[in-house]
Amino acid sequence: MSQARLSPGVVPGRLSKEELAANFADIAPPLDDHEARVAADRCYFCHDAPCVTACPTSIDIPLFIRQIATGTPDAAAMTILHANILGGMCARVCPTENLCEGACVRMDAEGQPVEIGALQRFATDGLMAQQGHPFRRAAPTGKRIAVVGAGPAGLAAAHRLAAKGHDVVIFEAREKPGGLNEYGIASYKSVDGFAQAEIEWLMGIGGIELRHGQRLGQQITLDGLRGEYDAVFLGMGLGGVNALRAEGEDREHVTDAISFIRELRQASDLTALPVGRDVVVIGGGMTAVDAAVQSKLLGAENVTMVYRRGPERMGASRHEQDHATSSGVRIICNAAPVAIHGNGTVAEIEFCYTQDGPDGLTMTGDRFRLKADQVFRAIGQQLQDAPDGLALKGGKIAVTGPGRTGLPDVWAGGDCASGGDDLTVTAVAEGRDAAEDIDARLTGRPAEIPG
Ligand SMILES: Cc1cc2nc3c(=O)[nH]c(=O)nc-3n(C[C@H](O)[C@H](O)[C@H](O)COP(=O)(O)OP(=O)(O)OC[C@H]3O[C@@H](n4cnc5c(N)ncnc54)[C@H](O)[C@@H]3O)c2cc1C
Ligand code: SF4
Repeated sequence: MSQARLSPGVVPGRLSKEELAANFADIAPPLDDHEARVAADRCYFCHDAPCVTACPTSIDIPLFIRQIATGTPDAAAMTILHANILGGMCARVCPTENLCEGACVRMDAEGQPVEIGALQRFATDGLMAQQGHPFRRAAPTGKRIAVVGAGPAGLAAAHRLAAKGHDVVIFEAREKPGGLNEYGIASYKSVDGFAQAEIEWLMGIGGIELRHGQRLGQQITLDGLRGEYDAVFLGMGLGGVNALRAEGEDREHVTDAISFIRELRQASDLTALPVGRDVVVIGGGMTAVDAAVQSKLLGAENVTMVYRRGPERMGASRHEQDHATSSGVRIICNAAPVAIHGNGTVAEIEFCYTQDGPDGLTMTGDRFRLKADQVFRAIGQQLQDAPDGLALKGGKIAVTGPGRTGLPDVWAGGDCASGGDDLTVTAVAEGRDAAEDIDARLTGRPAEIPG
């Protein structure tokens, strides 16, 4: 047993290289040919299929499953990618239990949906493993479009605009593209550098220039982009993280979950990544689950997620909550942090029980403490770098229809824009639809917005 395994404090090397490799392996390994045919054969190819309605990118699911069933998986991949150019990543990260698979008629009838996500991965992985890029660009339009942010929304918009014959420049603040696909998604959902491989493949269409180290508000401004380009698409996500507002929040080893996940995603050697023995994660969303589960997989002995409301109000789905508990994470509901104790470094965190009633959330006065040598805040993110001149709604850039802002040449989509849920697939749909609207505005061609 390693020396560090049960040591208190935030230390690296709690588990061996082999244990970590096993813990962070692909959570849903790909289907082989035979498994894909068997899974595809379960589809009823429904007319007005509810799975399609439940997909934010409106992929023609029965069609692509039929194409797999009839032995044409590359055609299936094209059906998927026409609607969702990041269909490979979405096959890995979509909460399908809340989307297509949750709506599948076989889920209702037998509690066992068609494995739509796994079939989507089967088809897209097969096509993307081949040489070349399968989409061709239309004749050049001479129009230049600026895209801010190389996350799912920006990438989807850029690909669709390039396909329409426009020249696109993506301005990205970080040194790698991908947004949360690269820096946020849990490691075991997207293994073997898939995020970067997918972007390289997507860029294969041509006509997209990616400029790094370009932060809106610092190296570039919205006015400057509007002056130089025919249209601007903003897809910069939510870069800020919310504070706990609990006493003692500045204690050492109280950090935001997103930074921890980002370090984990970028670590070349997980044995060098420190983690606490007693980890407490505050929050009830996907980020909280990912931070908690990955702390456990790194070797933390006790991991507790604490959420201020009841389980039914959690942002994390029932499936994700079950994933957390089956990974050894304890979930405490109806408790809010009030103070973080410790001499410089966190040692304990104090909570007050809450009640969710008609007057909102109230503290009951009953308190308890949890031992903690590391605390992660996962209580939501907020828009950073909102440019002047754009109206906000609910703390995000206010948009109507396919991402139109109040400025006639500026569109926005993905997490930074109002409406929609904060999911990869929604960001892709919004980037794509804004690109169609930009094209329609610039060329007069009809927008091809599915669904
Ligand atoms: C920890 C975590 C786990 C998640 N897991 C899942 C999951 O399993 N499944 C799922 O469907 N969704 C998941 N999500 C949500 C999903 O990742 C987001 O909804 C999605 O990435 C949003 O895409 P986006 O393009 O709008 O923003 P982002 O992915 O945030 O990309 C924004 C890009 O803009 C860049 N940028 C930011 N500010 C500027 C600026 N001022 N100038 C230039 N560039 C800028 C950023 O560096 C980034 O590259 C998760 C989110 C988090 C935080
Ligand atoms: S709802 Fe289920 S069975 Fe019907 S088309 Fe969609 S995947 Fe197939």
